[in-house]
Amino acid sequence: SRTCHHCGHIKKELKVKTRKWKCQNCGKTHDRDINAAINILNRWFNGDSLKKH
Ligand SMILES: [Zn+2]
Repeated sequence: SRTCHHCGHIKKELKVKTRKWKCQNCGKTHDRDINAAINILNRWFNGDSLKKH
């Protein structure tokens, strides 16, 4: 995922091969796969899963 789970910043220039990236907004370093999983969890906790049910 290109979205920073810490501040919500979306990195625009992210190459496919890039596994880790640093958020330019808050300075946090993210692993793409872990960040993607956290974003999915955040979405789940925000109630999107309930709407599908
Ligand atoms: Zn950030």
